Amino acid sequence: MTQSITILGATGSIGRSTLDVVSRYPERFSVHAVAGGSRVEPLVDVCLSARPKRAVIADASKVVELEQALCTVGLGDIEVLGGPEAVSRLADDPDTDVVVQAVVGAAGVAPTFAAARAGKRLLLANKESVVCGGRLLMETVRNSGCELLPVDSEHNAIFQCLAGATEKARAGARIVLTASGGPFRGRTNLEGITPEQAVAHPKWSMGRKISVDSASLMNKGLEVIEARWLFDFEPGRIKVVVHPESIVHSAVEFEDGAVIAQLGSADMRTPIAYSLGWPERLDGCAKRLSLAEIGRLTFEEPDTKTFPLLQAAYDALAADNGATIVLNAANEIAVEAFLEGRIGFTDIFSTVRGMLESILAPLPGSVDEIIELDRAVRAKTRERLAVR
Ligand code: NAD
Ligand code: MG
Repeated sequence: MTQSITILGATGSIGRSTLDVVSRYPERFSVHAVAGGSRVEPLVDVCLSARPKRAVIADASKVVELEQALCTVGLGDIEVLGGPEAVSRLADDPDTDVVVQAVVGAAGVAPTFAAARAGKRLLLANKESVVCGGRLLMETVRNSGCELLPVDSEHNAIFQCLAGATEKARAGARIVLTASGGPFRGRTNLEGITPEQAVAHPKWSMGRKISVDSASLMNKGLEVIEARWLFDFEPGRIKVVVHPESIVHSAVEFEDGAVIAQLGSADMRTPIAYSLGWPERLDGCAKRLSLAEIGRLTFEEPDTKTFPLLQAAYDALAADNGATIVLNAANEIAVEAFLEGRIGFTDIFSTVRGMLESILAPLPGSVDEIIELDRAVRAKTRERLAVR
Protein backbone atom coordinates (compact mmCIF):
# COMPACT_ATOMS: atom_id res chain seq x y z
CA MET A 1 0.00 0.00 0.00
CA THR A 2 1.36 3.39 -0.89
CA GLN A 3 1.28 6.12 1.73
CA SER A 4 -0.58 9.24 0.78
CA ILE A 5 1.43 12.41 1.42
CA THR A 6 0.44 16.05 1.70
CA ILE A 7 3.16 18.68 1.42
CA LEU A 8 2.53 22.14 2.87
CA GLY A 9 5.09 24.65 1.61
CA ALA A 10 5.70 22.35 -1.37
CA THR A 11 7.37 25.06 -3.47
CA GLY A 12 10.02 25.88 -0.86
CA SER A 13 13.45 24.44 -0.17
CA ILE A 14 12.21 21.67 2.18
CA GLY A 15 9.12 21.08 0.03
CA ARG A 16 11.21 20.48 -3.09
CA SER A 17 13.69 18.23 -1.24
CA THR A 18 10.70 16.22 0.00
CA LEU A 19 9.34 15.88 -3.54
CA ASP A 20 12.74 14.65 -4.64
CA VAL A 21 12.81 11.93 -1.95
CA VAL A 22 9.20 10.92 -2.56
CA SER A 23 9.73 10.63 -6.34
CA ARG A 24 12.41 7.99 -5.75
CA TYR A 25 9.93 5.62 -4.08
CA PRO A 26 6.81 5.57 -6.27
CA GLU A 27 5.81 2.17 -4.87
CA ARG A 28 5.85 3.55 -1.30
CA PHE A 29 4.58 7.13 -1.56
CA SER A 30 2.10 9.11 -3.61
CA VAL A 31 1.50 12.86 -3.34
CA HIS A 32 -2.11 13.54 -2.40
CA ALA A 33 -2.05 17.33 -2.05
CA VAL A 34 0.32 20.30 -2.15
CA ALA A 35 0.10 23.84 -0.79
CA GLY A 36 2.11 26.97 -1.47
CA GLY A 37 2.04 30.58 -0.31
CA SER A 38 1.39 33.11 -3.06
CA ARG A 39 3.37 32.25 -6.18
CA VAL A 40 1.49 30.45 -8.96
CA GLU A 41 4.34 29.46 -11.26
CA PRO A 42 6.36 27.29 -8.84
CA LEU A 43 3.15 25.64 -7.64
CA VAL A 44 2.28 24.68 -11.22
CA ASP A 45 5.80 23.20 -11.59
CA VAL A 46 5.27 21.15 -8.44
CA CYS A 47 1.90 19.93 -9.76
CA LEU A 48 3.48 18.94 -13.07
CA SER A 49 6.01 16.71 -11.35
CA ALA A 50 3.97 15.41 -8.40
CA ARG A 51 0.47 15.12 -10.01
CA PRO A 52 -1.48 15.69 -6.77
CA LYS A 53 -5.28 15.49 -6.50
CA ARG A 54 -5.48 18.88 -4.77
CA ALA A 55 -3.51 22.11 -4.86
CA VAL A 56 -3.98 24.95 -2.39
CA ILE A 57 -2.64 28.46 -2.61
CA ALA A 58 -2.67 30.41 0.68
CA ASP A 59 -3.19 33.70 -1.14
CA ALA A 60 -6.87 33.28 -2.07
CA SER A 61 -6.70 36.07 -4.66
CA LYS A 62 -4.56 33.75 -6.84
CA VAL A 63 -7.04 30.86 -7.12
CA VAL A 64 -8.37 31.74 -10.58
CA GLU A 65 -4.87 32.35 -11.90
CA LEU A 66 -3.76 28.96 -10.54
CA GLU A 67 -6.79 27.17 -12.03
CA GLN A 68 -6.14 28.72 -15.44
CA ALA A 69 -2.41 27.95 -15.32
CA LEU A 70 -3.11 24.31 -14.42
CA CYS A 71 -5.64 24.01 -17.27
CA THR A 72 -3.10 25.42 -19.71
CA VAL A 73 -0.62 22.65 -18.87
CA GLY A 74 -3.29 19.93 -19.03
CA LEU A 75 -3.82 19.57 -15.28
CA GLY A 76 -7.39 20.89 -15.18
CA ASP A 77 -8.51 17.87 -13.12
CA ILE A 78 -6.55 19.01 -10.04
CA GLU A 79 -8.91 20.48 -7.46
CA VAL A 80 -7.81 24.02 -6.59
CA LEU A 81 -8.57 25.74 -3.29
CA GLY A 82 -7.37 29.00 -1.77
CA GLY A 83 -6.85 30.72 1.59
CA PRO A 84 -5.11 29.88 4.86
CA GLU A 85 -8.08 27.82 6.11
CA ALA A 86 -7.80 25.59 3.06
CA VAL A 87 -4.12 24.96 3.94
CA SER A 88 -5.15 23.81 7.43
CA ARG A 89 -7.94 21.65 6.00
CA LEU A 90 -5.38 19.81 3.89
CA ALA A 91 -3.51 19.01 7.10
CA ASP A 92 -6.46 17.09 8.54
CA ASP A 93 -7.81 15.65 5.29
CA PRO A 94 -8.84 12.03 6.02
CA ASP A 95 -7.44 10.99 2.61
CA THR A 96 -3.87 11.69 3.65
CA ASP A 97 -1.61 9.64 5.95
CA VAL A 98 1.43 11.89 6.19
CA VAL A 99 1.67 15.68 6.41
CA VAL A 100 4.96 17.36 5.62
CA GLN A 101 4.80 20.77 7.29
CA ALA A 102 7.32 22.95 5.44
CA VAL A 103 5.56 26.33 5.50
CA VAL A 104 7.86 29.13 6.63
CA GLY A 105 7.08 31.21 9.70
CA ALA A 106 4.20 31.49 12.16
CA ALA A 107 1.78 31.07 9.24
CA GLY A 108 2.49 27.40 9.98
CA VAL A 109 0.90 27.44 13.46
CA ALA A 110 -2.68 26.63 12.40
CA PRO A 111 -1.76 23.85 9.92
CA THR A 112 0.66 22.25 12.41
CA PHE A 113 -2.06 22.11 15.06
CA ALA A 114 -4.58 20.83 12.50
CA ALA A 115 -2.27 17.94 11.55
CA ALA A 116 -1.47 17.26 15.22
CA ARG A 117 -5.16 17.14 16.18
CA ALA A 118 -5.92 14.78 13.32
CA GLY A 119 -3.37 12.30 14.65
CA LYS A 120 -1.41 12.08 11.40
CA ARG A 121 2.24 11.28 10.90
CA LEU A 122 3.57 14.82 10.97
CA LEU A 123 6.96 15.57 9.44
CA LEU A 124 7.62 18.91 11.07
CA ALA A 125 10.09 21.31 9.45
CA ASN A 126 8.17 24.46 10.46
CA LYS A 127 10.05 25.20 13.70
CA GLU A 128 8.18 28.49 14.24
CA SER A 129 5.02 26.57 15.14
CA VAL A 130 6.88 24.73 17.92
CA VAL A 131 8.39 28.01 19.12
CA CYS A 132 4.89 29.54 19.27
CA GLY A 133 2.88 26.47 20.26
CA GLY A 134 5.34 24.82 22.67
CA ARG A 135 3.68 22.99 25.50
CA LEU A 136 0.19 23.19 23.99
CA LEU A 137 1.37 21.58 20.77
CA MET A 138 3.03 18.70 22.60
CA GLU A 139 -0.13 18.13 24.67
CA THR A 140 -2.15 18.02 21.45
CA VAL A 141 0.30 15.52 19.95
CA ARG A 142 0.09 13.26 23.02
CA ASN A 143 -3.71 13.37 23.15
CA SER A 144 -4.27 12.60 19.47
CA GLY A 145 -1.59 9.97 18.98
CA CYS A 146 0.01 12.08 16.25
CA GLU A 147 3.37 10.65 15.16
CA LEU A 148 5.59 13.73 15.25
CA LEU A 149 8.92 13.34 13.44
CA PRO A 150 11.27 16.33 13.49
CA VAL A 151 12.73 17.25 10.10
CA ASP A 152 15.00 20.05 11.29
CA SER A 153 18.41 18.36 10.91
CA GLU A 154 19.52 18.93 14.52
CA HIS A 155 16.26 17.66 15.98
CA ASN A 156 16.17 14.74 13.62
CA ALA A 157 19.71 13.94 14.82
CA ILE A 158 18.66 14.20 18.49
CA PHE A 159 15.64 11.99 17.80
CA GLN A 160 18.03 9.37 16.39
CA CYS A 161 20.50 9.78 19.30
CA LEU A 162 17.71 9.27 21.86
CA ALA A 163 16.33 6.15 20.16
CA GLY A 164 16.54 3.34 22.68
CA ALA A 165 17.33 5.58 25.67
CA THR A 166 15.28 4.69 28.77
CA GLU A 167 13.20 7.31 30.60
CA LYS A 168 15.88 7.43 33.30
CA ALA A 169 18.70 7.86 30.79
CA ARG A 170 16.79 10.66 29.06
CA ALA A 171 16.12 12.40 32.36
CA GLY A 172 19.85 12.70 33.09
CA ALA A 173 20.97 13.52 29.54
CA ARG A 174 22.00 16.79 27.91
CA ILE A 175 21.42 17.90 24.34
CA VAL A 176 24.39 19.28 22.40
CA LEU A 177 22.88 21.33 19.58
CA THR A 178 25.39 22.04 16.81
CA ALA A 179 25.42 25.34 14.89
CA SER A 180 27.34 26.05 11.71
CA GLY A 181 27.96 29.61 12.87
CA GLY A 182 26.62 30.95 9.56
CA PRO A 183 28.41 33.18 7.04
CA PHE A 184 29.62 35.72 9.64
CA ARG A 185 31.26 33.34 12.10
CA GLY A 186 34.41 34.89 13.52
CA ARG A 187 33.31 38.47 12.80
CA THR A 188 32.80 40.85 15.69
CA ASN A 189 31.49 43.75 13.60
CA LEU A 190 28.27 43.15 11.72
CA GLU A 191 27.73 46.63 10.32
CA GLY A 192 27.04 47.10 6.60
CA ILE A 193 25.97 43.51 5.86
CA THR A 194 23.79 43.17 2.74
CA PRO A 195 20.89 40.72 2.29
CA GLU A 196 22.90 38.88 -0.40
CA GLN A 197 25.77 38.31 2.05
CA ALA A 198 23.37 37.17 4.76
CA VAL A 199 21.55 34.58 2.64
CA ALA A 200 24.79 33.06 1.29
CA HIS A 201 25.08 30.21 3.79
CA PRO A 202 28.42 28.38 3.64
CA LYS A 203 27.00 24.85 4.14
CA TRP A 204 23.25 24.68 3.60
CA SER A 205 21.04 25.84 0.74
CA MET A 206 17.79 27.02 2.34
CA GLY A 207 14.93 29.53 2.07
CA ARG A 208 15.79 33.22 2.55
CA LYS A 209 14.21 33.68 5.99
CA ILE A 210 15.97 30.73 7.65
CA SER A 211 19.22 31.74 5.92
CA VAL A 212 19.10 35.17 7.58
CA ASP A 213 18.20 33.47 10.89
CA SER A 214 21.28 31.26 10.51
CA ALA A 215 23.44 34.31 9.88
CA SER A 216 22.13 36.04 13.04
CA LEU A 217 22.16 32.83 15.17
CA MET A 218 18.43 33.41 15.75
CA ASN A 219 17.93 30.08 14.00
CA LYS A 220 19.86 28.38 16.80
CA GLY A 221 17.82 30.26 19.38
CA LEU A 222 14.61 29.06 17.74
CA GLU A 223 16.07 25.55 17.69
CA VAL A 224 16.86 25.64 21.42
CA ILE A 225 13.18 26.42 22.02
CA GLU A 226 12.17 23.73 19.52
CA ALA A 227 14.35 21.13 21.29
CA ARG A 228 12.98 22.15 24.69
CA TRP A 229 9.46 21.20 23.63
CA LEU A 230 10.03 18.35 21.20
CA PHE A 231 12.17 16.36 23.63
CA ASP A 232 10.94 17.76 26.96
CA PHE A 233 14.44 18.84 28.07
CA GLU A 234 14.65 21.88 30.35
CA PRO A 235 16.69 24.73 28.80
CA GLY A 236 19.55 24.15 31.25
CA ARG A 237 20.10 20.75 29.63
CA ILE A 238 20.40 22.18 26.10
CA LYS A 239 23.83 23.48 25.09
CA VAL A 240 24.85 25.02 21.77
CA VAL A 241 28.25 24.39 20.21
CA VAL A 242 29.51 25.89 16.94
CA HIS A 243 30.66 23.28 14.43
CA PRO A 244 31.46 24.95 11.09
CA GLU A 245 31.75 21.74 9.04
CA SER A 246 28.06 20.86 9.64
CA ILE A 247 28.81 17.13 9.71
CA VAL A 248 27.78 16.39 13.30
CA HIS A 249 24.11 17.33 13.19
CA SER A 250 23.76 17.25 17.00
CA ALA A 251 24.52 14.96 19.93
CA VAL A 252 23.19 13.73 23.25
CA GLU A 253 25.46 13.47 26.26
CA PHE A 254 24.47 10.82 28.82
CA GLU A 255 25.23 10.73 32.53
CA ASP A 256 27.89 8.05 32.17
CA GLY A 257 29.91 10.38 29.93
CA ALA A 258 28.94 8.70 26.66
CA VAL A 259 28.10 11.12 23.85
CA ILE A 260 25.98 9.78 20.99
CA ALA A 261 26.08 11.93 17.85
CA GLN A 262 24.49 11.68 14.42
CA LEU A 263 26.69 12.52 11.44
CA GLY A 264 26.01 12.95 7.75
CA SER A 265 26.52 15.25 4.81
CA ALA A 266 24.66 18.59 4.91
CA ASP A 267 21.66 17.44 2.90
CA MET A 268 18.08 17.83 4.16
CA ARG A 269 17.03 14.79 2.15
CA THR A 270 18.58 12.59 4.87
CA PRO A 271 16.32 13.75 7.75
CA ILE A 272 13.35 13.92 5.36
CA ALA A 273 13.92 10.34 4.17
CA TYR A 274 14.47 9.16 7.75
CA SER A 275 11.16 10.68 8.86
CA LEU A 276 9.28 9.32 5.85
CA GLY A 277 10.65 5.83 6.29
CA TRP A 278 10.75 5.63 10.11
CA PRO A 279 11.20 3.16 11.71
CA GLU A 280 12.80 1.79 8.54
CA ARG A 281 15.64 3.55 6.73
CA LEU A 282 15.23 4.33 3.05
CA ASP A 283 18.32 3.78 0.94
CA GLY A 284 20.39 6.19 -1.06
CA CYS A 285 19.12 9.77 -1.19
CA ALA A 286 22.10 11.79 -0.05
CA LYS A 287 25.82 11.59 -0.66
CA ARG A 288 27.59 9.02 1.56
CA LEU A 289 29.89 10.49 4.17
CA SER A 290 33.62 9.80 3.98
CA LEU A 291 35.21 10.71 7.32
CA ALA A 292 38.70 10.29 5.91
CA GLU A 293 37.90 12.77 3.13
CA ILE A 294 36.61 15.30 5.68
CA GLY A 295 39.68 14.73 7.84
CA ARG A 296 38.97 17.23 10.58
CA LEU A 297 35.95 18.32 12.59
CA THR A 298 36.13 21.44 14.74
CA PHE A 299 34.03 22.84 17.57
CA GLU A 300 33.95 26.17 19.39
CA GLU A 301 31.82 28.17 21.82
CA PRO A 302 29.22 30.50 20.22
CA ASP A 303 29.99 34.25 20.29
CA THR A 304 26.89 35.37 22.17
CA LYS A 305 28.17 38.95 22.47
CA THR A 306 28.27 39.59 18.72
CA PHE A 307 25.15 37.44 18.13
CA PRO A 308 22.81 38.34 21.02
CA LEU A 309 19.66 36.61 19.72
CA LEU A 310 20.77 33.18 20.93
CA GLN A 311 20.71 34.40 24.53
CA ALA A 312 17.46 36.28 23.83
CA ALA A 313 15.87 32.92 22.96
CA TYR A 314 17.03 31.35 26.25
CA ASP A 315 15.67 34.41 28.10
CA ALA A 316 12.32 34.19 26.29
CA LEU A 317 12.06 30.50 27.24
CA ALA A 318 12.90 31.26 30.87
CA ALA A 319 10.13 33.89 31.03
CA ASP A 320 7.65 31.01 30.55
CA ASN A 321 4.97 33.30 29.10
CA GLY A 322 4.18 34.50 25.58
CA ALA A 323 7.73 35.84 25.08
CA THR A 324 8.76 33.14 22.60
CA ILE A 325 5.86 34.24 20.35
CA VAL A 326 6.97 37.87 20.66
CA LEU A 327 10.56 36.87 19.86
CA ASN A 328 9.48 34.94 16.78
CA ALA A 329 7.01 37.46 15.38
CA ALA A 330 9.33 40.45 15.89
CA ASN A 331 12.13 38.51 14.21
CA GLU A 332 9.97 37.58 11.21
CA ILE A 333 9.01 41.20 10.57
CA ALA A 334 12.56 42.47 11.15
CA VAL A 335 14.02 39.85 8.78
CA GLU A 336 11.45 40.77 6.14
CA ALA A 337 12.41 44.47 6.52
CA PHE A 338 16.11 43.59 6.31
CA LEU A 339 15.59 41.51 3.15
CA GLU A 340 13.70 44.43 1.60
CA GLY A 341 16.61 46.74 2.37
CA ARG A 342 14.61 48.86 4.84
CA ILE A 343 16.77 48.17 7.91
CA GLY A 344 20.33 47.04 8.57
CA PHE A 345 21.36 43.58 9.79
CA THR A 346 22.02 44.61 13.40
CA ASP A 347 18.67 46.42 13.48
CA ILE A 348 17.16 42.91 13.59
CA PHE A 349 18.77 42.51 17.04
CA SER A 350 17.53 45.85 18.41
CA THR A 351 14.04 45.33 16.98
CA VAL A 352 13.63 41.91 18.58
CA ARG A 353 15.05 43.11 21.90
CA GLY A 354 12.87 46.23 21.80
CA MET A 355 9.70 44.23 21.22
CA LEU A 356 10.59 41.76 23.99
CA GLU A 357 11.07 44.67 26.38
CA SER A 358 7.88 46.49 25.43
CA ILE A 359 5.40 43.59 25.21
CA LEU A 360 4.73 41.52 28.30
CA ALA A 361 2.45 38.78 27.05
CA PRO A 362 0.83 36.09 29.18
CA LEU A 363 1.05 32.47 28.03
CA PRO A 364 -1.70 31.87 25.45
CA GLY A 365 -4.10 29.11 26.40
CA SER A 366 -5.35 28.22 22.92
CA VAL A 367 -4.31 28.18 19.28
CA ASP A 368 -6.52 31.21 18.60
CA GLU A 369 -4.76 33.15 21.36
CA ILE A 370 -1.36 32.21 19.93
CA ILE A 371 -2.39 33.47 16.49
CA GLU A 372 -3.88 36.64 18.00
CA LEU A 373 -0.69 37.43 19.92
CA ASP A 374 1.44 36.72 16.85
CA ARG A 375 -0.67 39.15 14.79
CA ALA A 376 -0.54 41.86 17.46
CA VAL A 377 3.25 41.65 17.74
CA ARG A 378 3.63 41.76 13.95
CA ALA A 379 1.52 44.92 13.79
CA LYS A 380 3.47 46.58 16.62
CA THR A 381 6.82 45.63 15.08
CA ARG A 382 5.73 47.06 11.71
CA GLU A 383 4.69 50.28 13.48
CA ARG A 384 8.05 50.49 15.24
CA LEU A 385 9.94 50.00 11.98
CA ALA A 386 7.77 52.50 10.10
CA VAL A 387 8.46 55.34 12.52
CA ARG A 388 12.21 54.83 12.69
P1 NAD B 1 11.12 28.50 1.83
O1 NAD B 1 10.98 29.95 1.94
O2 NAD B 1 12.06 27.94 0.83
O3 NAD B 1 9.67 27.85 1.55
C1 NAD B 1 8.55 28.21 2.29
C2 NAD B 1 7.31 27.57 1.74
O4 NAD B 1 6.19 28.03 2.49
C3 NAD B 1 7.02 27.96 0.28
O5 NAD B 1 6.46 26.84 -0.38
C4 NAD B 1 5.97 29.06 0.41
O6 NAD B 1 5.16 29.18 -0.74
C5 NAD B 1 5.19 28.53 1.60
N1 NAD B 1 4.40 29.52 2.30
C6 NAD B 1 4.75 30.77 2.67
N2 NAD B 1 3.74 31.37 3.33
C7 NAD B 1 2.73 30.48 3.38
C8 NAD B 1 1.42 30.49 3.92
N3 NAD B 1 0.93 31.58 4.54
N4 NAD B 1 0.67 29.38 3.82
C9 NAD B 1 1.13 28.29 3.16
N5 NAD B 1 2.36 28.22 2.62
C10 NAD B 1 3.14 29.30 2.74
O7 NAD B 1 11.48 27.96 3.29
P2 NAD B 1 12.28 26.63 3.71
O8 NAD B 1 13.72 26.94 3.79
O9 NAD B 1 11.83 25.47 2.90
O10 NAD B 1 11.77 26.47 5.21
C11 NAD B 1 10.50 25.98 5.53
C12 NAD B 1 10.45 25.68 7.03
O11 NAD B 1 11.37 24.62 7.31
C13 NAD B 1 10.87 26.86 7.91
O12 NAD B 1 10.10 26.84 9.08
C14 NAD B 1 12.32 26.56 8.23
O13 NAD B 1 12.72 27.10 9.46
C15 NAD B 1 12.30 25.04 8.28
N6 NAD B 1 13.60 24.42 8.00
C16 NAD B 1 14.17 24.59 6.79
C17 NAD B 1 15.41 24.00 6.52
C18 NAD B 1 16.06 24.13 5.16
O14 NAD B 1 17.08 23.50 4.92
N7 NAD B 1 15.51 24.88 4.23
C19 NAD B 1 16.05 23.25 7.50
C20 NAD B 1 15.43 23.10 8.74
C21 NAD B 1 14.19 23.68 8.98
MG1 MG C 1 18.34 23.23 11.77
